[in-house]
Amino acid sequence: MIILRSLFAGLLLFVNMCTVSAQPAPNPVIAHRGAWKKSGLPENSIASLREAIRLGCYGSEFDVHLTKDDVIVVNHDDAFFGINIAGATYEELLAKKHANGESIPTAEAYLREGMKQKRTKLIYEIKASTAGKERTLELTRRSVALVRKLKAEKLVEYISFDYDACLLVHQLNPRAKVSYLTGDKSPEQLQADGLSGLDYHFSVFEKEPGWLADALKRKLITNAWTVNEAATMQKLLDQHIGFITTNEPELLFSLLQEKKR
Ligand code: MG
Repeated sequence: MIILRSLFAGLLLFVNMCTVSAQPAPNPVIAHRGAWKKSGLPENSIASLREAIRLGCYGSEFDVHLTKDDVIVVNHDDAFFGINIAGATYEELLAKKHANGESIPTAEAYLREGMKQKRTKLIYEIKASTAGKERTLELTRRSVALVRKLKAEKLVEYISFDYDACLLVHQLNPRAKVSYLTGDKSPEQLQADGLSGLDYHFSVFEKEPGWLADALKRKLITNAWTVNEAATMQKLLDQHIGFITTNEPELLFSLLQEKKR
């Protein structure tokens, strides 16, 4: 009896240790332009990436552009505080700073920061260039080369509204995860073209009610952006969406926590 009891106690201790030491379960939370809203940080800043990592998000999304002198920088809009990125040198962009004192991050600095850990994926959005398709494709080639140089392949997942950029990433690195953003291609088409998934505005899944289930059946990555309302998050979770990109990662985490209870 004593032996049984101590065995049972040992088993309990083991289970407890496993629970404590285990990595948090994978979650569907992708912070849109980093986690910035609740914390009052600038979007697409290194600080917002650190915050997304601190929250334990599955991924932290960010946007990249190519300067005139071929430096890849992280910013959402085509312009950084009024300076058109495609028409400016990196040096020229350093004239302006984010509210927290950061300069515009280079993609290299951003990736290096993300590589200090392994849990949160770096969701790398290739932006179409205002200087034309060839510059978009040049940005794509340089992006894949940069990720390769840094050995960040396992941490980076690509997304783009530009279908040619998506196809080129796949061509340059067939093992890379690449999802398309625009919402005008069926899961069948994406799969036929070798892409990994669809990352569509949540309204697309309402307009095309069969696409989410079909994509899941095809084992494609499924993601919806940019979902900031609890009711929409819940609806997508109920439909078993893979990931949700949000400005409110804390809200999505609290919803998932409630679901567990
Ligand atoms: Mg983006």
